[in-house]
Amino acid sequence: MKKISIAIDGPSASGKSTAAKIVAKKLNYIYIDTGAMYRSVCLYCLSNDIDIKDEAAVSAALIDIDIDIDEKGAIFLNGTDVSKEIRQDNISIGASVVSQYQKVRDFLVSKQQQIAASGGVVMDGRDIGTVVLKNAQLKIFQVASSKTRALRRYHDNIERGLEADYEKILEEIEHRDYQDTHRQISPLKKADDAIEIDTSDKTIEEVVGLILELVKEKEAK
Ligand code: C5P
Repeated sequence: MKKISIAIDGPSASGKSTAAKIVAKKLNYIYIDTGAMYRSVCLYCLSNDIDIKDEAAVSAALIDIDIDIDEKGAIFLNGTDVSKEIRQDNISIGASVVSQYQKVRDFLVSKQQQIAASGGVVMDGRDIGTVVLKNAQLKIFQVASSKTRALRRYHDNIERGLEADYEKILEEIEHRDYQDTHRQISPLKKADDAIEIDTSDKTIEEVVGLILELVKEKEAK
């Protein structure tokens, strides 16, 4: 069976990474969480007193940033595992700021394309179907109401031992949705050939089942 490339895009907390991770495991594909890369750039800047609102300063810092993902999906920033640190709410907001910069996007998109070059990948993000893997054989656009997404993030935060304030999370999600869909470069948008899945009333098992069905169809072609 030939291995295909799968692009999963959608707004924050629409369940992309949970579904993508399970799908990758079941298919024995590589999972790439591109949001974690934007988060790592933000974390580097905040840890090194670089003003994330200063595009020139953030762009100049890229040369000092090395990002790696291991086979278990852990993310390393200059050799340090930052998988947990990058999930903090201030990093979510900051990632959405640095992701607006052309040089940051060029830097990360080329890295993502290199990792995906051999196929057999499930990659999730905002611009995977429209920019990073334009030729992906399967493109999914995962959506859910902002309230559902906020509730999911709330429970997620509690599980991870992070601060959890529902109203604050909802506000942050709506703010990030606006920023991600209105930015000039590679805004979040459904690719013309993407299949939309509304996960609001679906369990994760149902979403994974739907995606696996679609993969089967594509692999058989
Ligand atoms: O997916 P996640 O919530 O971890 O992404 C964090 C932020 O990184 C998003 O709000 C978005 O601004 C940015 N991002 C992006 N393009 C991607 C993945 C994430 O702009 N492919």
